[in-house]
Amino acid sequence: MKPNFLNDQRTKLIENLRERGITDEDVLQVMASLPREKFVHPAFIQRAYEDSALPLINQQTISQPYTVAYMTSLLHIQPNDKILEIGTGSGYQAAVLAKLGAKVYSIEREFDLHRQATKTLQELGLNVQTRYGDGTIGWSEHAPYQGIIVTAGAPDIPKTLLMQLAIGGKMVIPSGDRKTQTLYLITRQSENDFDSTELEEFKFVPLIGREGWQEAK
Ligand code: SAH
Repeated sequence: MKPNFLNDQRTKLIENLRERGITDEDVLQVMASLPREKFVHPAFIQRAYEDSALPLINQQTISQPYTVAYMTSLLHIQPNDKILEIGTGSGYQAAVLAKLGAKVYSIEREFDLHRQATKTLQELGLNVQTRYGDGTIGWSEHAPYQGIIVTAGAPDIPKTLLMQLAIGGKMVIPSGDRKTQTLYLITRQSENDFDSTELEEFKFVPLIGREGWQEAK
């Protein structure tokens, strides 16, 4: 590989995301500065800047860059916002959130992924608190959150997560069947009122846990 190969690919990816309709300059700038090759499986480093999901260990995937950019833009992150992520995976999405200035809390149910992502995020000096466990029940100690981002497909919207949103806070969550989901943007208007908008269709790995799917099939 030529030394600048990955940098050139990264620049092309950002142009691509713009063409596909991502307009949030802060998100684009962060993604233009973040080495995605550090998060992908070593076998896929050359493909780190394709706009596609790539395999991680344990049948999990690092989300497609377009999906990361799209979901992140929906949260309208302000510096120091507390953001909870369910499904740390590679840690890439958490890294994007942290670089936008958020205080990020991220939960992963696969121990090996949790451990690897924690290491990668530390090596890059990013401020993300990670936890090994079932994210469908949230992380109550740090609630309420200005944003919750669920990066695995849920059968229904977990009630416990809704209750951990701040008033005015937003949750992005794919929900549908095990293969295909609709992305929802939910805003907590008041203690008991939630506003929900249906967005594009996506394909995520299943959210498995107490308020998700039962064990993997
Ligand atoms: N955000 C990740 C994408 C990860 S794919 C990235 O940027 O790379 C979704 C992840 O959700 C998988 O790693 C899967 O193990 C995890 N997951 C599924 N159900 C979960 C649950 N209940 N709690 C925490 N993590 C979960």
